[in-house]
Amino acid sequence: MKVSQRVSALPVSPTRRYLGLAKEAEGKGKHVLRLSIGQPDLQPPREYFEALAQIPEGRIPYPNASGLEELRVAQQRYYARHGIDFAPNEIFVTDGAMGAIEFSILATCDPGDVILLIEPFYSNYAMITHLTGVDFRTVTTKAEEDFVIPSEEAFEAQYCDGMKAILLSSPCNPTGRMYRRDELETIVRFAKKHDLIILADEVYREFYFVERPFVSFYEFSEIRPQLVLLDSASKKYAVCGARIGTASTHNKALQQSFAKLCQMRLGVSASEQQAVAALGNVDPRYHEGVREIYRTRRQVMLDAFSKMDGIRYSQPEGAFYSLVKLPVKNAEAFVQWMLTDFDCEGETVLLTPAGGFYSSSEHGQDEIRISYCVDEEELKRALHIVNEGLKAYPDKK
Ligand SMILES: *Cc1c(COP(=O)(O)O)cnc(C)c1O
Repeated sequence: MKVSQRVSALPVSPTRRYLGLAKEAEGKGKHVLRLSIGQPDLQPPREYFEALAQIPEGRIPYPNASGLEELRVAQQRYYARHGIDFAPNEIFVTDGAMGAIEFSILATCDPGDVILLIEPFYSNYAMITHLTGVDFRTVTTKAEEDFVIPSEEAFEAQYCDGMKAILLSSPCNPTGRMYRRDELETIVRFAKKHDLIILADEVYREFYFVERPFVSFYEFSEIRPQLVLLDSASKKYAVCGARIGTASTHNKALQQSFAKLCQMRLGVSASEQQAVAALGNVDPRYHEGVREIYRTRRQVMLDAFSKMDGIRYSQPEGAFYSLVKLPVKNAEAFVQWMLTDFDCEGETVLLTPAGGFYSSSEHGQDEIRISYCVDEEELKRALHIVNEGLKAYPDKK
């Protein structure tokens, strides 16, 4: 039997590729610390569990396909606190931000059309374009330049017929960059000039650790008619398993397309929508506490980096990742070696090689992504082990 090429040729997510080797190492009695996982380890707010517990026994009908009214109103209020003005019927509830991204690509691009990604990118972006038959081009940001968005010429050089949209995250997974106003402005100008839709993945809106405030694409009023804002409860409230996200837009044609896609999907889990709607009542100061926790971890990580020879890193500003250049020839081989050949008193570390965040093998071959979603002590220990591993690793530059 032949299965579809479309799916069987999908690249495996770089965060999952080495899980098998990690399990094998654990089978042999090694303890594997994970700096690979991009999900918060924090307890979700109690409002979530209280709302789930309050669901009465009774019928469980299909929910409104575009989303429960109470969740869309909660999201409207949340946005209003951030100076973002969407009416409930402009907000579409999806299966996590990934669902929102999938709908956005389906709604903006036909097969063969082109989407522009800022590289390095969240690896699922490449999967979903592949699945939908959409091509992508990339504008590359570089570790040596602290992943700053390049000038408009770099965008023009990638422009082609059939380009319909730009998809990017800020704060950025995997680089940890939070783009400044003038960097976003470059993208806004380019999008205006070529009439492109901006798909703004702002799932890390609350996760920034520098003094300068987060700037949303929504702040550029001239781009609002061609903007889709992508959001999610996953990272925001540490409820990745709830699978609740949203796509929001003022664009009427896209609203109609989103409504059709939502109808095709028959809606998203009603009980999860109710529980996530209740998260709208969480004290807005909740995120100050969350930021403090990650800020401390980030400092622990930077202190450890400063003691490591030959690595190159930039100050991560947001999300909970750092992309690090290692003094090794091939980061994939190093990640594998850490699992198969190395341990430090019975412990080793699972890292994510950065190759999968780039479109071509020219870039990222000596880079890894570190996720600091683990507590301070574990982070300290894990980075010590990485440093010991680097010292012992034979295939250095
Ligand atoms: C985690 C992540 C997502 C997916 O979020 P879900 O809501 O869990 O689907 C989307 N974009 C970025 C940049 C992410 O890091």
